[in-house]
Amino acid sequence: MTSQRTRERLIQRLCEEGLSDARVLEVIRRTPRHLFVDEALAHRAYEDTALPIGHNQTISQPFMVARMSELLLASGPLDKVLEIGTGSGYQTAVLAQLVERVFSVERIQSLQERAKERLLELDLRNVVFRWGDGWDGWSALAPYNGIIVTAAASEVPQALLDQLAPGGRLVIPVGAGDEQQLLLIVNEGGHFSRQILDSVRFVPLLSGSVF
Ligand code: SAH
Repeated sequence: MTSQRTRERLIQRLCEEGLSDARVLEVIRRTPRHLFVDEALAHRAYEDTALPIGHNQTISQPFMVARMSELLLASGPLDKVLEIGTGSGYQTAVLAQLVERVFSVERIQSLQERAKERLLELDLRNVVFRWGDGWDGWSALAPYNGIIVTAAASEVPQALLDQLAPGGRLVIPVGAGDEQQLLLIVNEGGHFSRQILDSVRFVPLLSGSVF
């Protein structure tokens, strides 16, 4: 169920769906997604689908994790990436293998604690976690070369634009319910360019922080 063959099938499928960044695909291939879900769901970990992780949240679909990682990395290597919505830590683990340092913010403390443990188990030590409200970003450590948001925002949070370095890239789903679009926003140093990419479906970016 969690065998190499099942994982290969997932990679094959991502390729067929048009993903082509070899570095990203290799990282998805070697990241054990079954460790990021409950044991009862481990047999579905290499399906290309979102799965429940408790607290009404989901681990992102592998396609989306790969797609967003590709978009972030498309203009070259990144040293500082801010992630909003740690969740299970799966996207965090993928990013940690692709960029120098990841700063990850989550509003639900218990999810964050579990994600921290998983990353340590995998010996991924270039990640710093913060329990808080991602609408505020993480200003103390700004600016970031890349920012990725893994929950759908009703609008682009101003704080995230403010914390994006010149040349920096922000990948964020915006909208609600069935009407969400993935945006790529680039800080062109003076103005922000915006591209509307795919129709997507994420859980909402909420406000405040909870245990
Ligand atoms: N990439 C994660 C996706 C988790 S789902 C994974 O693959 O597991 C989205 C996550 O965003 C949830 O954990 C949710 O609690 C978190 N979230 C929602 N609103 C937030 C906010 N304002 N600040 C920080 N995290 C938030």
